[in-house]
Amino acid sequence: MTPLDQVNLSELPSKNTRLEQTRLLLQEALTSFEPGRVALSFSGAEDVVLIDLVQALGLKVDVFSLDTGRLHEETYQFIDTVREHYRQPIEMLYLDPAGVQTLVKEKGLFSFYRDGHGECCGVRKVAPLRSKLAKLDAWITGQRQDQSITRGNIPLREEDTNFAGSSAERQPSALIKFNPLSEWTSADIWNYIREHEVPYNALHDQGFVSIGCQPCTRSVGPFEHERAGRWWWEEATKKECGLHSQNIINVVQA
Ligand code: SF4
Repeated sequence: MTPLDQVNLSELPSKNTRLEQTRLLLQEALTSFEPGRVALSFSGAEDVVLIDLVQALGLKVDVFSLDTGRLHEETYQFIDTVREHYRQPIEMLYLDPAGVQTLVKEKGLFSFYRDGHGECCGVRKVAPLRSKLAKLDAWITGQRQDQSITRGNIPLREEDTNFAGSSAERQPSALIKFNPLSEWTSADIWNYIREHEVPYNALHDQGFVSIGCQPCTRSVGPFEHERAGRWWWEEATKKECGLHSQNIINVVQA
């Protein structure tokens, strides 16, 4: 029996709210695996909500974050604020130096504007994440269904087929990906942040909604979708950085 079989969310009592559902899922994620074999991927507002919920449950979670070398100063400050506010260790994962060196030497520092973001995200994000996930049985993300067209079908938990092959140790067991906020809306997140005084990235007060690397993120206008500020020169169906490229496959197959 895999952890995926342990709780059937469709059989949960209907009185459960999304918040209760999220708590249950976090509890399942953090108690079904050996210590050190599950971790939370942290970068944005949703992930701090998850850290806040975990601490309110009296549980502990390992947290990691990807330092691409191209983040805003405000984002580095935010990561440290979260670390201090929650007394939460955050493991920073660094880019693949050989891959970045080769890319920059051959194509410069801004090739993503010409060639698309895949190559740069590959060496700055996907490679370090792949190494990290090779040591895990499960990971937790803050993805939401209403974030973009590529995330409309995100389940509460799934088998991560994209990174499952990262570990010889884990074969043939699945790599499980928990998305406990998948059914939350943006309004749910920000209501929670205000009610619980959760720290957030100062860039949100400057019109930024979805925040990634500095050269690939811009603020959005009042009627623009939140992901419009990410890789704005590319089509909406391509706006995943490789961390969740399974979402793109799902959209193509839908
Ligand atoms: S978001 Fe932009 S700068 Fe960051 S890794 Fe991807 S392409 Fe490179």
